[in-house]
Amino acid sequence: MTRLIDGKAMAANLRAGAAQAVSALDFKPGLAVVLVGEDPASSVYVRNKGKATIEAGLNSFEHKLSEDISEGELLSLIDKLNKDDSVDGILVQLPLPAHIDAERILNAIDPDKDVDGFHPTNVGRLWSGIAALAPCTPTGCMRMIHGVLPKISGKEAVIVGRSNIVGKPMAAMLLAQSATVSIAHSQTTDLKERCQTADILIAAVGRPEMIRGDWIKPGAVVIDVGINRVIQDDGKNRLVGDVAFGEAAERARAITPVPGGVGPMTIACLIENAVRAACMRRSRPIPEM
Ligand code: NDP
Repeated sequence: MTRLIDGKAMAANLRAGAAQAVSALDFKPGLAVVLVGEDPASSVYVRNKGKATIEAGLNSFEHKLSEDISEGELLSLIDKLNKDDSVDGILVQLPLPAHIDAERILNAIDPDKDVDGFHPTNVGRLWSGIAALAPCTPTGCMRMIHGVLPKISGKEAVIVGRSNIVGKPMAAMLLAQSATVSIAHSQTTDLKERCQTADILIAAVGRPEMIRGDWIKPGAVVIDVGINRVIQDDGKNRLVGDVAFGEAAERARAITPVPGGVGPMTIACLIENAVRAACMRRSRPIPEM
């Protein structure tokens, strides 16, 4: 029978573990989240991150900036947060407005406070197998895979999507666990056939229900990272993933739902990273979470 991977419940456990770890510390870690503009989806993500941060017992510092802030002003804020000892983690919510060079902003964050794991130093550490702060979404995906598949070694993993924030770090993590990894993208010519070989299939595309049931190898573990808002016949909005859930669930061994799968795990892993960064900066042992 297909197992539903309940990201919401798993994330609640992780956040409770992080809260317990924080309560045993003799200081309060602080996480700064920077939001530029008023993109509705980004605003919701930032609100949820702030809420989870406070619930876990950390200080939450929210910086909401106007859409037309200059790149220089944003860099000054990052510099201030880098130097602020009460700030252990810095997250800049993406996407940024077009007039701001996102790469320049992310590269300006102190790698020791880079709780998103996007700084080139942390990317290099991840691929070298010495990750300290690894990207939250793929970390959450790995936790979910481990929950249903104790041995990843030797499995065929196919990742659809090659972004810096999901696809590529996901590949590094699966490779580190000795999976045989393929990364597909928009120029892949035999996508369906490749997906059909996957014991572990990760969909991180941003195209509603693109991956159909007959693309799934029977018994595969399917992790759907996609979050797509579609308008139903009744005019209401609905969130769907990149995988046609109903069809895929008929063949998969285990599958994540959307919503309630990868999304909540991303936030829980962010809280863990903030605690990790706080302890590392102070040369304290990293607590079990
Ligand atoms: P990007 O747009 O950065 O990357 C999308 C990737 O999909 C690209 O590599 C692109 O290929 C590939 N792609 C696009 N069309 C096709 C196609 N027809 N066939 C095969 N590959 C294709 O997206 P992100 O990685 O940032 O996000 C992916 C999805 O995950 C989105 O829905 C996003 O909202 C969601 N997301 C969810 C998170 C969560 O916490 N649950 C966190 C982050 C993202 P190419 O490189 O060739 O253009």
